[in-house]
Amino acid sequence: MDKKLKLAVIGKPISHSKSPEIHQDFASQFDTKIEFKKDEVTPETLETWLADFFKDAGKGVSITLPLKEAALNYADEISDRARLASACNVIYSKDEKIFADCTDGFGLIKDLEENLKVSLEDKKILILGAGGAARGIIPSIIEKKPAKLKVANRTESKALLLREDLEAKVNLKEKNTIFEAGDLSDDFLLDDSYDLVINSTSISTQAGESLGLPKDLFTGTKLAYDLFYSAKKTAFMQDALAAGAEKVSDGWGMLVEQGAESFRLWTNLIPDTSRLLEKPID
Ligand code: NAP
Repeated sequence: MDKKLKLAVIGKPISHSKSPEIHQDFASQFDTKIEFKKDEVTPETLETWLADFFKDAGKGVSITLPLKEAALNYADEISDRARLASACNVIYSKDEKIFADCTDGFGLIKDLEENLKVSLEDKKILILGAGGAARGIIPSIIEKKPAKLKVANRTESKALLLREDLEAKVNLKEKNTIFEAGDLSDDFLLDDSYDLVINSTSISTQAGESLGLPKDLFTGTKLAYDLFYSAKKTAFMQDALAAGAEKVSDGWGMLVEQGAESFRLWTNLIPDTSRLLEKPID
C-alpha cells in the first residue's frame, strides 16, 4: 500500500496519549503505512473536526475522554457494542458511511482473561466511576456473568442513569447478575466484598490524587485494576495494595488490546500485541 492511511486520536487532555506509537507498532507488522495524528478536541469542536477529517480522506479515529458519548451523534451506523454502551471509542469511514464502535470492553476482557488470567464468572465486581469508559466496559463484563456488579459514582444520579439505561437493553436475569448502582459513600461501598475492583474514574489523570476509599473495601480483593495507564503505580493502585488487595494492574494491557481491535476495524488486519504488552511505551 503506497498511500498512507490517515488515522488520529482526539480528546482533551490528549498530549499523554500513546495511541500513535501503539498503532505505528501494529502497522509495522504489515505492509501498511499510516499517518497518525493526535489533536485536542472538545465536545464543542467535535463536529467540525470530524467533518474536516473525513473530508480529507481520514479513515479512523480513536475517541477518548470526554468525547465518547458525544461522538455517537456523528455516526451513520452504530455497532451493537456501542449501542449497548451508549458510548464509542472508535469512529471510522467505510463504504462512504461513518461507523461508531466501542472496543473498550473487548480490550478490558482480553487483558483480564488472557493476559492476567482472571475469570469474571460468578465473581463480585465493583466499578468506580460512571463515565464513558464505565459505559464501554460494563456490557462486556455482564456478558461474562459475574454474580454481582456494582457501579459507584461521585455523582450518584449518573450511576443510576447508567443502570436504568442498561436494564432496558440487557436481560440481567438471564445472566444471573445482580446489578446495583450508588454513590461513593462507605455505606454503599462496604456492604459487600469484591473479587475485582475497577477504577474507571478519571482521577488518576491527576497524578497523586486519591479517591480516599475506605481501607476495608479491598478486603478479599484479588485484583484492583486502574483503567488509567501509567509507568508508575497510580494512587489507586498504591491504596489498594496498602489495604490488602492481592494484585494490582494499570490499564496498559486494555489500551493495547482495544487498540488492536480498533486497528482491525480500520484495516481488516489483526496485529500481534505481545511486544507492546511486554514493553510498555514510557
Ligand atoms: P469521563 O467520561 O470523563 O468520566 C469520568 C468519571 O470519573 C466520572 O464518573 C466522574 O464522576 C469520575 N471522577 C472524575 N474526577 C473524580 C474525582 N475527583 N473523584 C471521584 N470521581 C471522579 O472519563 P472516561 O472516558 O470514563 O475515562 C475514565 C478513565 O479511564 C480515564 O483515566 C481514562 O484515561 C481511562 N481509560 C482507559 C482506557 C484504556 O484503554 N486503558 C480506555 C478508556 C478510558 P462524576 O460523574 O461525578 O463527574
